[in-house]
Amino acid sequence: MSRERTDEEFVAAFKVGTEGFEILSLDTEDEGCFSWSPCDTCSSPLGGTRYDATLCNSGEDRRQVRVRVCTDCAMFSANGVLPSGG
Ligand SMILES: [Zn+2]
Repeated sequence: MSRERTDEEFVAAFKVGTEGFEILSLDTEDEGCFSWSPCDTCSSPLGGTRYDATLCNSGEDRRQVRVRVCTDCAMFSANGVLPSGG
């Protein structure tokens, strides 16, 4: 069995998944839906709720990428709350 990720592992994975972007903006209308697809930003392989979001880069190219993120990433990007609740 795989153990739960630590907050440090989560943040490290999140940084890799959002590299090159500054903002993860959640779609406010989206209530999420269950999926077995890995999270687009932290690569969590666990099934769970996924939310539609957009990765934005405020740099010259103003890149935007549509992603589907897990609850951990949604909470972290919206409120800075870590998976452990800290
Ligand atoms: Zn995630």
